[in-house]
Amino acid sequence: MLRGVGPAYEAAFGENGIETVRDLLLNLPYRYVDRGSVLKIGELDRRPIHADIEREIVTVLGVIKDLRQTTTRVQRMALMEALIDDGTGSLRLIWFNQAYLARVLKPGDRVLVFGPLSMGRHGLEMRGPAFEIMGRGGDVSEDLWVRRFLPLYRKMGPLTGRVRQRLVQEALPRIHVPEEWLPMELSRGLPDTLSALRLLHQPTDESDPGELESHATPAHQRLASEELFAFALGVTLRRAGRMKRRGMVVPTSPELRERLKAFLPFRLTGAQRTAFKEIVDDLTSGRVMHRLLQGDVGSGKTLVAFLAMAMVAETGGQAALLVPTEVLARQHAATFERLLGEEAPRMQLLLGAMKAAEKRAAQERIASGEARYIVGTHALFQESVAFSKLELVVVDEQHRFGVKQREALKGKGLDPHWLVMSATPIPRSLALAIFGDLEQSVLDELPPGRQPITTRLMDPDGAERAWDLVERELDTGHQAFVVSPAIDPTDEGKVQLRDIQAMEGLIRGRFPETPIAVVHGRLKSEELETRMEAFVKGEAKILLATTVIEVGVDVPNATVMVVDHAERFGLSQLHQLRGRVGRGKAPSHFVMISGSETERLQALVETHDGFRIAQRDLELRGPGEFFGTRQSGLPQFQVADLVRDRQLLAKCREAAEKVAQRGLSEAQMAWLKQEQARLKLAEIS
Ligand code: ADP
Ligand code: MG
Repeated sequence: MLRGVGPAYEAAFGENGIETVRDLLLNLPYRYVDRGSVLKIGELDRRPIHADIEREIVTVLGVIKDLRQTTTRVQRMALMEALIDDGTGSLRLIWFNQAYLARVLKPGDRVLVFGPLSMGRHGLEMRGPAFEIMGRGGDVSEDLWVRRFLPLYRKMGPLTGRVRQRLVQEALPRIHVPEEWLPMELSRGLPDTLSALRLLHQPTDESDPGELESHATPAHQRLASEELFAFALGVTLRRAGRMKRRGMVVPTSPELRERLKAFLPFRLTGAQRTAFKEIVDDLTSGRVMHRLLQGDVGSGKTLVAFLAMAMVAETGGQAALLVPTEVLARQHAATFERLLGEEAPRMQLLLGAMKAAEKRAAQERIASGEARYIVGTHALFQESVAFSKLELVVVDEQHRFGVKQREALKGKGLDPHWLVMSATPIPRSLALAIFGDLEQSVLDELPPGRQPITTRLMDPDGAERAWDLVERELDTGHQAFVVSPAIDPTDEGKVQLRDIQAMEGLIRGRFPETPIAVVHGRLKSEELETRMEAFVKGEAKILLATTVIEVGVDVPNATVMVVDHAERFGLSQLHQLRGRVGRGKAPSHFVMISGSETERLQALVETHDGFRIAQRDLELRGPGEFFGTRQSGLPQFQVADLVRDRQLLAKCREAAEKVAQRGLSEAQMAWLKQEQARLKLAEIS
C-alpha cells in the first residue's frame, strides 16, 4: 500500500476501519496548529509575568536537549523532565506519573508542545503539555513544514500522529480524481474530491482553523455528502426493492374488527388508533410492511403490537414478538394471555432457558400452526424453530435485531411483515441508519390517568432524603426500585464509586425488616428469574438492580425509583428508567443521586418529553455512544455525522430519490458498491 506500512501499522489501521488509501485520507486531522502562533521560547520570557500569564496555553517548537526521570520526594510520583531549546531559549517541561514517556521521548527529538505556562522555581515551565514528535534533531527553523497550518492526527495504537501525517502526505499526490458521481444539486459549489482532500490535509495559509476543526468548510461538505449520499442511495434502493416484493395480504372484515375490539381492555388513545390504522394499511397493501413504532416510555406500544399480531393471528397466520430478555418475554406472554382471555391457548412462549422437553413441545406447537401468537427471545430464530405460517415479526425495544438477521430469515424462505418498536425516540435519519429502510409511526400521547412523577437530583451528601422517601412509600404499601450502575473493577479507586454490594449493605442497614431482591448481570438466568418474580409478585418490596434492562418490568405498585451514580447513565436511559414508576394509581418519585454532571442531569428534572431528551442525549454523546457504538450496526462514516449533518442528509435523501427514479449510471453503481462496503452498510438486495 504505502511505503513503511508493515503488518503492525496495517493492523492498527484495520482496527480503525482504515483499509485503503481513501480511508486513510478520509480520516481527517483533529487539530490544525497555526504556526503563525508558535511562539519563540526566548519571547516567552519577555512576556509580562503577572497573574494573567499563569496557565496561559502556548505552543512552542523545540529540540529536546536533556531528559531525566526522577521521583518526587514527598509523594514518590514518577517525574519526567525535559529541556527543550529552539535557538532563542530553553523551556522546562514536566510530566507527572507518565513513566511511558521514557520510551517515547528521546534527546534530539524535535517536538511541538502545547500546554499551560507557569512560574516554577527555576523560571518558566510547562506542566503536562501535549506534544507531537515532529522528527529528529535539526534546526527548528528548517522544519519540513513550510505551511502555516500544521495538521495533527490522532494516534492509533503504534501509529503515531506523525507517521500518519507522513503517510497522508505521501498518499495525496498519488490518488486520482474519481469521476463525478454526486448529482448536480449536491455537488454545486463544492470542490471536487481531490481538492477537498488537499484543502483538509494541506490547508492554505488563508484557511480558518476553527472552521476546519468544526467541519464547517465546503471541503468537508463534499466528503460528507459523498458518504451520506451513498448511504441515502442505498436505503432508497432497498426501499424500491421492498416495494416490488409481494407481501402477504391480511384479509380484513367487519367480523375481524369486532373480534379485535373485544380483546381491548380500554379505549385506544388517539395516537394508538392512528398508528394501528397505519399498520392495517400496510398489512393490507400487498407490500411488505417495514415499520418503526416509536413512542415514549409508557405510551402503550405493547397494545398496538398486540393488535397488529391479532390481525395476522386471527386470520390464519402466525405472529411472533421478539423481546430482549426472558423476564420481559414472560411478562409480555402474561399480558397477552390476559388480553386473549379464552383464546389464551393460542399463545406460545419460547425461551432459550426452557427444559428440553418443554422446548420441544413449544416448537411443535409453532411448527404445526397451533400456536398463533408467539412470544420469545432470540431462541425464536434458531435453526431448529420452524414456523408454519409466519406473517409478522414484532421486535421489542432495546433489541438489536438488524438487517443481517432479517436476511437470514429471508434465506429460510420467510419474508414476513416487520414492526420494530423503539422506546428511545430517535430522528428518522438515525432510524434509517440503524434499521435500514422503514416507515414510521409515532405514539406521541400517553394513556389517560397517568400519575405525575416528581423528579429530583440529589447530592450524595444529601441522599438521606432519598431513603426517607423510599421509607414513606414502603410504609404505604408501595414498592421501590433502586438502580446501581454496573461497575467495572478497573474503575474502582479512580473516583469514589459505590458498587452494588455497598448499596445492598446500605439498603439492608436502612430497611432491616424489608424483603429485598437483588439482581445483576452475573446471575444465572434461573436465579434472576426467581428474584424478579418475587418483586413482580410483590413479595420483595425493593428491587436493587444493575442490569438496567431487567428494570423493564411493569410493576404498577412501584412508586419510587432511586438511581445511584446517575452520571453514569445516558439521559435517554434515565428517562426509560423513570418510565417504570408512575404506572399505578399513586403519584410517584424518581430520584437521581449524583455528585457530578448535574447540569446534564438537570434536563430530566426539567422535561418529561422523551423526544426532547433523546435529542439532547444525541447531541451530547453523538450517535455512536448513544447506541453503544459498533454493535449497533451504524454506518461507519469517517467525515459525516448523522446528528451534526442532519440537514445535509435530508438533501442527500431527496437527491437519492431522484437518482433512483432516473436510474443509476454505471459509475454511480460501482461507486455505491464500493462505498457500501467501506461504510459497512447493508448490501442492496
Ligand atoms: P410502552 O410503550 O412503554 O411499552 P406499555 O405498552 O407497557 O408501554 O403500556 C404502558 C401501560 O399503559 C400498560 O400498563 C398498559 O396496560 C397501559 N395502556 C396502554 N394503552 C392504554 C390505553 N389506551 N388506555 C389506558 N391504559 C393503557
Ligand atoms: Mg414496552
